[in-house]
Amino acid sequence: PELPAALVRSTFLDFFRQKHGHQLVPSSPVRPRGDPSLLFVNAGMNQFKPLLLGTADPRSEMSSYRRVVNSQKCVRAGGKHNDLEDVGRDQHHHTFFEMLGNWSFGDYFKEEACSMAWSLLTEHYGIPADRLYVSYFGGDAASHLPADEETRHIWLDIGVPPARLLPFGLKENFWEMGDCGPCGPCTEIHYDHVGGRDAAVLVNADSPDVVEIWNLVFMQYNREVDHSLRMLPQFSVDTGMGLERLVSVLQGRRSNYDTDLFTPLLHAIQQRSRAGPYGGRTGAADEGKVDMAYRVVADHVRTLSVCIADGVHPGMSGAELVLRRILRRAVRFCVEVLQAPQGALASLVPTVSHILVKYISHNPCGQVTSVAWSLHRNLGFPLDLVDLMLEERGVQVDRQELDRLMAESQKVKLQAGAQAQVTLDVLSLAELQRLAVPHTDDSLKYQYRLERG
Ligand code: ATP
Ligand code: MG
Ligand code: MG
Ligand code: MG
Repeated sequence: PELPAALVRSTFLDFFRQKHGHQLVPSSPVRPRGDPSLLFVNAGMNQFKPLLLGTADPRSEMSSYRRVVNSQKCVRAGGKHNDLEDVGRDQHHHTFFEMLGNWSFGDYFKEEACSMAWSLLTEHYGIPADRLYVSYFGGDAASHLPADEETRHIWLDIGVPPARLLPFGLKENFWEMGDCGPCGPCTEIHYDHVGGRDAAVLVNADSPDVVEIWNLVFMQYNREVDHSLRMLPQFSVDTGMGLERLVSVLQGRRSNYDTDLFTPLLHAIQQRSRAGPYGGRTGAADEGKVDMAYRVVADHVRTLSVCIADGVHPGMSGAELVLRRILRRAVRFCVEVLQAPQGALASLVPTVSHILVKYISHNPCGQVTSVAWSLHRNLGFPLDLVDLMLEERGVQVDRQELDRLMAESQKVKLQAGAQAQVTLDVLSLAELQRLAVPHTDDSLKYQYRLERG
C-alpha cells in the first residue's frame, strides 16, 4: 500500500514527539499492573491513571511527564468496554487493537489538543476535511453536567462547519474508563467513508459508512466508588485513535481487514481453509458466515498471541477465563466453519508475530530507546549490553534521546531529594525482547498451550 501501517504509526508518534515536544512512552503490557478494576488494558490512558488522579509517586519517572505520546496494545473483551460480540460481524471492532494517543498532564488543554488533532489529520495525513464530522458533549441535566460550549467554539474557530459539529449525551461523549476511575467530557472525530453527501445522521449510529476514529477526552473528574463525580486536582488531555481504523481510512479501504495489518493473516487462513476464499461480505450477504469466520479467526489469533506473550494465559477466572472463551470461539470457527485441519489456529501465530514485529522494527528507534532506558534505570541492565543485543538485530538506540533521559532523571532525583526508587520491572525485560526479537519463544509456548486446549 501507498501508506503502510508502520508509516501511519510512526507519522503519529513523530508528529507529537518532534513537532510538539511529547515524550514517547512505550506500550504497557495488556495485563494491567496493579489495577483490580480492569481485566485487560482497554485504553492508552490506563498506565497513566495515577498521574491523572494526582496519586503518582513524586519519585517515579511518571511524575515528570507533561506531554506524552504512545501506541498502546489494548484488549476490549469483558469489563466496561466489551466488543467481543461485535467482532467479525462488523469491520471495525476488534478484541485486540492498537490505540495511538497523546496526553497533556496539566500542560495544554482543549484548544491545543483540538488544533493538533485537526492539523495531523487534514494536513499531515491529508484527509479531506469534508469527510470529517466532530461530536462534542451536549450536557446532561440529570447529572448537572453542562454542555461543552468551549469545545464547540474551538472547533468553529478551527473551521468545522456547524452542520458537521454535533452534540451528543453521556453515552457517546462523556468517556469513562470503567465503573470508577478518571472521566470527563470528550470530543470525537468521525470519518465518512462515502462522501459527497450530508451524513450527519449516520454519526454514532452504528453505520459501517461513518466510523469514529479519534476520541479526545478532557479529564476533569474521577468517578468514585459511590458513583459521584469528584473534581480532579489538575485537568488533563487524554486522546485515543484506533490504528487499524486510521489505516483503513488512509489506505482507502472500507474495512480494517482489507489493510496490510490483516491481509497477510487472512491469506494465511485461506491457505488452511477448505471453505473457499475470503470475500469481505457482512450480514445476510455472508451466507454460511464464512467471511465472518475469517474475521473472527484473524482477530482472535492476534488477541491470543498478544495476551499470551504478555503473560495472560487461557484459564479459569477473570481475564484468563475471557481468553479461554476467545480461544474456544477461534477454534470453533476455524474447525467448523472454515474446515481447517487441527492445529491450523496455532500455525497462524508466526504470521501474527511477523506482522506486528515487522511494524515495530520499521520504527524502532524511539520506542526501543525508552525501553532500553527503563531496563537500565529499573533493573540496572547495562546499556552497552542492550546496544549489543539490538545491534545483532539491526536496531539502534537513539543516543541523543538516551542522554536526554539520563539528564532528566538526574534532575528529577535532585528535585525529589531522594534516591530513585528501584523497582524490579521484569515486565519491561519481556517488553524489550518483544520489540527486538521475533516472538519465537512466545509462539512455541502458545502452540503448546493451544494444543492442550
Ligand atoms: P466505538 O463507538 O466505535 O465502539 P468507542 O467510543 O468505544 O468506539 P473509545 O473508547 O472512544 O472508543 O476509544 C478511542 C478510539 O479507539 C476509538 O475512537 C476507535 O478509533 C478505537 N477503538 C475503540 N474500540 C475499538 C475496537 N474494538 N477495535 C478497534 N478500534 C477501536
Ligand atoms: Mg465502543
Ligand atoms: Mg463511540
Ligand atoms: Mg469513543
